Amino acid sequence: AYQDQLHEAKRFMESYNHFLVVSHIHPDGDAASSTCAIGLILDFLGKPYTLMNEGAVPGKLSYLKGFDQIVNYTLSDRNYSFDAVISVDCADFERMGETVKLFPKDIPLLNIDHHPTNDQFGTVNLVEPQAAATAEILFDLVEYIQIPWSKELSDCIYTGLLTDTGGFRYSNTSSKVMKAASQLLDYGTDGYELSDRLLEQTTRAHVELLKKSLNSLSFAHDDQIAWVTVGKEDMRETGAMQEDLEGIVNYPRNIAGVEVGMLFKEMMDGTVKCSFRSAGKADVARIAQKFGGGGHVRAAGATLKAPLTQAIEMVVEEVKRALDA
Ligand code: 5GP
Ligand code: MN
Ligand code: MN
Repeated sequence: AYQDQLHEAKRFMESYNHFLVVSHIHPDGDAASSTCAIGLILDFLGKPYTLMNEGAVPGKLSYLKGFDQIVNYTLSDRNYSFDAVISVDCADFERMGETVKLFPKDIPLLNIDHHPTNDQFGTVNLVEPQAAATAEILFDLVEYIQIPWSKELSDCIYTGLLTDTGGFRYSNTSSKVMKAASQLLDYGTDGYELSDRLLEQTTRAHVELLKKSLNSLSFAHDDQIAWVTVGKEDMRETGAMQEDLEGIVNYPRNIAGVEVGMLFKEMMDGTVKCSFRSAGKADVARIAQKFGGGGHVRAAGATLKAPLTQAIEMVVEEVKRALDA
């Protein structure tokens, strides 16, 4: 049961001495804020730790307490000592990216996550697919350990809830999420400030990239499938970074009549990252899994080793099949 998982997670954190805290490659708001929240929890327990992920943390999250401590694996000297790993917001071992090169496969690992495709890869697993965000699970863990709430901790948890629910709008916005958010406002979080910073404010690079990607808008299957693409040259010409892609996949997905919206991004290494969003009919986590990815019923992703046009063809075929089933 969930209470037992919380208990085991607490015991895990008390049992080891130095932790490596890892979130998924190209961390989003939930991944980065959960990383920082674990740091604050370990501070309370008096345990030293290293915070890490592969890929840069979006700069707009710089207000998170611990943001400056998060090590970018790619740029690090890769020389750390720790006796246990805590992963947050990772559905499987591969989601940690290159950071896994830092430890043996059999190291004690606490897996904290909310993806239904999570394969329980930890030694201890705190996995709750009902949770809207990994941060929601950490809200429960903080209450379970009875850590006094600070504004810093509250801001971390609120950030994960806010970003993974798309500003408390997606179908994962439960009454439990709203109750937790309400408490966090009482603990000092400025909800307006965070919404404005994370959901309203944008960058010129993002808007220029949006402009280009919308030119590629395409449809299939009686307009039930829609997608946009972002090529390598689009990134170069607009000076956009990975974080500037956020939200673009919602444009095809939000068109009336579209069941599955997608964004295909050409990566520097020649692979294609596909983001899936579903209006509800298709389980895009299952579609993504066919290509080695995963995620949630309505939001998922996968990386394909194929040229862009071929990747689109393969994925669109699979989405058609799912919609016809
Ligand atoms: P996004 O499209 O925003 O990158 O990701 C949407 C959802 O799918 C997120 O919950 C994310 O964690 C998950 N996801 C994205 N890419 C992958 C992937 O390659 N593998 C897995 N397992 N999940 C992914
Ligand atoms: Mn995430
Ligand atoms: Mn998440």
